Amino acid sequence: MKHLFGPVPSRRLGFSLGIDVIPAKTCTLDCVYCQLGPTPELTLERKPYVSAGTIIAEVTELLQNNPRIDFLTFSGSGEPTLNYDLGKMICGLKKITSIPIAVITNGSLLYQKEARQDLMKADVVLPSLDAVSGEIFQAVNRPHPDLNAERMIEGLRKFSLEYPGKIWLEVMLVKGINDSKAELGKIRAIIKSLRVNKIQLNTVVRPPAEEGFFPLTQLELEAAAEIIGLDCEIIAEFTGGKTTGILQGNEELILETLKRRPLTLKDIAAITGLNLDETVKIISLLLVKKKVREKRTGNRKYYSV
Ligand code: SF4
Repeated sequence: MKHLFGPVPSRRLGFSLGIDVIPAKTCTLDCVYCQLGPTPELTLERKPYVSAGTIIAEVTELLQNNPRIDFLTFSGSGEPTLNYDLGKMICGLKKITSIPIAVITNGSLLYQKEARQDLMKADVVLPSLDAVSGEIFQAVNRPHPDLNAERMIEGLRKFSLEYPGKIWLEVMLVKGINDSKAELGKIRAIIKSLRVNKIQLNTVVRPPAEEGFFPLTQLELEAAAEIIGLDCEIIAEFTGGKTTGILQGNEELILETLKRRPLTLKDIAAITGLNLDETVKIISLLLVKKKVREKRTGNRKYYSV
């Protein structure tokens, strides 16, 4: 099951089974806060990186264990809409399960009609909008040279009018880069022109691969939420309880998950169903074997591959 990871505890989606349809790391952007490291090659070209048949077979096999999963979520090693079989995958999964399907996308390809159409059958789409001013978009998202803020916003606008499902828009704030009052005011104005069901403020909680980028404090996030208004919410801590333990004792699946998402000990305990002591033992062993590394952000320690 090379393309599945988790279920990971997601602050927005509960227990989310990650479906990764893009080779690491292929993206349209090179965000300063990315947990996966720099984008070696920026691209806007959609390709059949992984086939719909492969993904449907992997999910079918995994569901036989009947794990607790709240969402099947396309995300992982890059931008999922770069896979041009995405629409077929979503339709195929709908035939084998009633678990809702989410797509976490940076939204940058929504200016392309085919990318918008591929998302039509998803239950929830979670696009991002971190900046609307050209220079701030460049500073935070470092896009492919043929992308700019206007093109991205236009795609998002068209999508929000055509798509019948739920749109949860994320704004990721990085201290000193896209959190000025002026930029937050402009983001508010653009969001007002879109049809979105939720606006979710996030900050660099998980350790970015590059040094020198910092999260906003809780108070700063609250002040930003005041400026954006529109009932935007600050994404809360994960409080979804424990999974049925699909990852328990499965070192390979734990490593596949940590490859795509740095997690705290508490997160790992939640997805494995192990208690904290057992989790500490497993992670200590993986640290000794140099299979995982530890990184501190604020007062939290994260483990990644
Ligand atoms: S869009 Fe996502 S995967 Fe791509 S660079 Fe930004 S954070 Fe990383």
